[in-house]
Amino acid sequence: MSVNLLDFDAKSLAGFCEEIGEKPFRARQLLRWIHRSGEADFAAMSDLAKGLRDKLAAAAVVNPPQVISDHIAADGTRKWLLSVGAGNGIETVFIPETHRGTLCISSQVGCALACSFCSTGRQGFNRNLGVAEIIGQLWWANKALAEESENEPVRERAVTNVVMMGMGEPLANFENVVAALDLMLDDNAYGLSRRRVTVSTSGLVPAMDRLRERCPVALAVSLHAPNDTLRDQLVPINRKYPIKELLAACERYLESAPRDFITFEYVMLDGVNDSVAHARELVQVVRHTPCKFNLIPFNPFPDSGYKRSSAEAVSRFRDVLMQAGLVTTVRKTRGDDIAAACGQLAGKVLDKTRRANRRLSEPAR
Ligand code: SAH
Ligand code: SF4
Repeated sequence: MSVNLLDFDAKSLAGFCEEIGEKPFRARQLLRWIHRSGEADFAAMSDLAKGLRDKLAAAAVVNPPQVISDHIAADGTRKWLLSVGAGNGIETVFIPETHRGTLCISSQVGCALACSFCSTGRQGFNRNLGVAEIIGQLWWANKALAEESENEPVRERAVTNVVMMGMGEPLANFENVVAALDLMLDDNAYGLSRRRVTVSTSGLVPAMDRLRERCPVALAVSLHAPNDTLRDQLVPINRKYPIKELLAACERYLESAPRDFITFEYVMLDGVNDSVAHARELVQVVRHTPCKFNLIPFNPFPDSGYKRSSAEAVSRFRDVLMQAGLVTTVRKTRGDDIAAACGQLAGKVLDKTRRANRRLSEPAR
């Protein structure tokens, strides 16, 4: 059976070259063809000897996930639904801004962590994505964006930043995510700087420590509440790794991080976590942790049971944080017309945990 070279980071690719009797430096050439040039056809890799190209064609493929649909929103946001087999699909979103283009990548089909306000979490969990399926999202986006006609000079139309904020909890799929991160950073592949690659986690403390050792990229942590009682409800993994342990892990992470702050994400849920009192409590809780805040107005989805905080509540909340000296931004909702915002990524998840069915039989909140 052929191996998929998109599954290999630089080291595994060097191992593969050795296995087929080639010098390890061939791996560098291959990386460049596959990731920099987006080439999937060995026959087109013109500086490789014909013999090697034939050998590769016999032993390997470059096989990204297939695109099921591709939408561009009025604001330039572009969203792809990629097939990952067995009726499952994952979503990838490109968000253009004036000086940067951010790709939001998925790491799992569904998510087992079941945060109460998250559409992906509501759908249950199917499986982890493989390396090819994770890096394949960047591979596709680069290719597709390069082929766009140049009709929008105002905003960036290339991927300059990656955020692991799509479907799934990246640190629950640790090895595959780290291999994909290695490729994002590799100069022969995508060559992004550590500061421009962000992993977002709901707070898997032991995996945060492992990431610090293995591949310290920028870190965003989904905090969403100023105390354990509330966070236990919103982010159930808090029952295992409560806020105090989470913040200690953040402080350890900063010792190796490419940036000198953690970004805390905070979803603004009307009447749940958005009062001035919550903001004051939050200021106290994070007082020892160098951080910035990103407030995310809740993005609704059917039967979520939550409402977005009012613009006034969001700005009152922001003012309390800012007055305490915490840099705070409010995330703009992008791609509204194509459901491409945070937490709305639904893809197509065949839930193996049958959570959705269980939910139906639960009493309404
Ligand atoms: N699993 C990771 C990364 C994916 S979610 C994590 O939880 O951090 C990316 C961000 O979107 C997280 O901060 C998440 O809490 C937030 N989010 C989830 N559902 C949302 C919704 N409906 N509206 C706004 N933000 C949401
Ligand atoms: Fe999973 Fe993140 Fe959604 Fe929570 S917010 S269910 S961790 S994807």
